Amino acid sequence: MKQRRISGLMLVRMMLLTLVLIAAIGAPLGFQPQGLPEVKAHAMKEQAAVGSATHKVNLATPQKVQTVNHSAVGTAAIPAALASAKPKKKVETSQETKKKTQGKTVYLTFDDGPSPHTDQVLEILRQEKVTGTFFVLGQQAKRYPEVIRRIVDAGHALGNHTYNHDYDALYDSFGHFWKQVKATEEVLREITGTRTPLVRAPGGTYGHFDKTYFSLLEQGGYKVFDWNVDSGDSKRKGVPADEIVSNVKNEKPQDQVIVLMHDGGGHEETVKALPEIIHYYKKLGYEFSTLSAEQKPVQFTLDRGIGKKNRPAPSAEWVASNVAPNAALFEPELPLTVEAGSVQMRLDAGEYEMLDGQYLAPVRTVMERLGAEVYWSEATQSAFIEWGEASVIADTRRGVLTAERKDGSVVEWEVRFDRKAQALWIPLRPLLEALNHPIVEAVSTATERRVSAL
Ligand SMILES: [Zn+2]
Repeated sequence: MKQRRISGLMLVRMMLLTLVLIAAIGAPLGFQPQGLPEVKAHAMKEQAAVGSATHKVNLATPQKVQTVNHSAVGTAAIPAALASAKPKKKVETSQETKKKTQGKTVYLTFDDGPSPHTDQVLEILRQEKVTGTFFVLGQQAKRYPEVIRRIVDAGHALGNHTYNHDYDALYDSFGHFWKQVKATEEVLREITGTRTPLVRAPGGTYGHFDKTYFSLLEQGGYKVFDWNVDSGDSKRKGVPADEIVSNVKNEKPQDQVIVLMHDGGGHEETVKALPEIIHYYKKLGYEFSTLSAEQKPVQFTLDRGIGKKNRPAPSAEWVASNVAPNAALFEPELPLTVEAGSVQMRLDAGEYEMLDGQYLAPVRTVMERLGAEVYWSEATQSAFIEWGEASVIADTRRGVLTAERKDGSVVEWEVRFDRKAQALWIPLRPLLEALNHPIVEAVSTATERRVSAL
């Protein structure tokens, strides 16, 4: 009811704005705000097989042109909003200055697993009530997915140690390294549902990473961790447990300790040494923690001679399409606030998604939270949306949204619908536009996601 009043008001406002603008800048800008769905408006198309065929399409009324001409109304109407319509993406900085952790912390890290030894390590950590970080190989994770689940379920952290640990491929070119990181990330995401930004280079970064490796991984949203205490458990085959323990004890203890150990196949001596290593740090008063993307990573200095390897640098195009958009995958999941027609509602993380810069959400969830009524017709495979004066049909067979305007005219938008878990997902921009509430601003920052429509 409230909606009805506002719709009329908004319509008038939209028209006024358009007129002011056309007067001010001469012609509408052909601008589409980034980060939002692009819509192909098929204004005044003959309404063929959709809905009631009683309305005639009126090609002549000027009012209708304003209503349906998206470049005039939806986007060019408010230049001030255009600037802010670009998603304001903040690069998340590792808050290095956030806190100088008081006291002493030890990060136990286990590389090359999972293997049959991993469950033994997990059992020891459980008994000692401490947590650690597992830098796993994609290849191994695929083989032992249930172990990956147990690692996560017990509260430990997962890191990415590339797919197969093959130095020749990994350090032959950055493209190879990247490919293995992404492949492992996908394996872990399939098992756990989340991605890990933590990366450890096989063999460590020294002598392997050049500036390109460091900078592109950082740009892609990853945190590369070396270590500052080497347990020496992989110096050669079968290093005995006492030697592993004394290697650890011989290192001068710093406040923040990252201990390198291995839980890959053949590391039963590490398993034997582990309880004593844990007791050692407990006695020294260390807290045990897991590595996280928020802390400053421990990294070896750059090997000055690494440039001699003459590795091919990836092209700018490759970086732009692979690395640059990758960091967004690690941004925190935020709720999305949608404002339209003076009503506001919220979609929690998981209730919407961003695909190719477009917000998508289930049409019923969105509309019912805005106070609309939604009906589904199995026979026509269409959703019927009634919101205030607006009446919109989402025809999934034809892939169009159809809006009937007050004057009897019909406007159509070509839309890609998506069916997921019984729900009909739809891009928000054409949906709101069809409902006569075009989006005027979209914000995407590290702390906020919001779509504002008229
Ligand atoms: Zn390794």
